[in-house]
Amino acid sequence: MSQTVAARTATRGTFRPTAVGLVVVTAAIIGTLVYRAPSLIDALRDRLGDTAAEADGGLPGGVTVFDDRYPGVANLDPDLLQALRDAAMDAAADGVVFYVNSGWRSRAYQNQLLRDAVAKYGSEEEAARWVATADTSPHVSGHAIDVGRADATAWLSEHGARYGLCQIYRNEPWHYELRPEAISRGCHLMYADPTRDPRMRG
Ligand SMILES: [Zn+2]
Repeated sequence: MSQTVAARTATRGTFRPTAVGLVVVTAAIIGTLVYRAPSLIDALRDRLGDTAAEADGGLPGGVTVFDDRYPGVANLDPDLLQALRDAAMDAAADGVVFYVNSGWRSRAYQNQLLRDAVAKYGSEEEAARWVATADTSPHVSGHAIDVGRADATAWLSEHGARYGLCQIYRNEPWHYELRPEAISRGCHLMYADPTRDPRMRG
C-alpha cells in the first residue's frame, strides 16, 4: 500500500514538471510562429525554392548573390549586385552567407505573385501591403533583392548602409535596395509597408 502511494507520488512528481514544460515550450513555439510568420514564409521559400521558372526569375533554395548563372541574380541592376557582393565578402568574415530568396522577376512572375497574394490575403488592398504590381515592383526592374536568411538580414540591418544597402519597408526585413547616398548619410526612414511608398501609386 505505502509502496503504491510512493509510486503514484513519484509518477505525479515526474509528470507535472514535464507537462508544465511542454506547455511552456508549445506556447513559445506558437508565439514564435505567429510573431515571425512573414520571415517563416521567407525561410520556407528559401528551403523549398520557389515554383516560377528560372527564366522568369524563379530560384531554387540555396542560391547566393554570387550565382549569376540564374537570371534572378544576373538580371539585377549591376550596381546593386556589386554592392551586395562587396557586403557579402565582408559578411563572410563573420560566417554569414547572403542567400537570394528572390531577385529580378519577369512581369509574368510578378503578376503571378500578385494573383497568389490576392487569393491568400483575400483582397487587393491587403495584398498590396506585400506584393507590388509588375509596373511598380522594383524586383521587375532589377532594383530589389529579398535576402535570406535571418543572420544575413541581421548583418545587413547593422552594416548595410556602409554599402548603400537599405531596408525599405518595415514589414519586410528581407527586402533591400541600393541607396548610394546612404554610404555618407545613412539609410532613409523606412516606409511602414509598400502601400506608403509613393512609387507604388504610379
Ligand atoms: Zn522584395
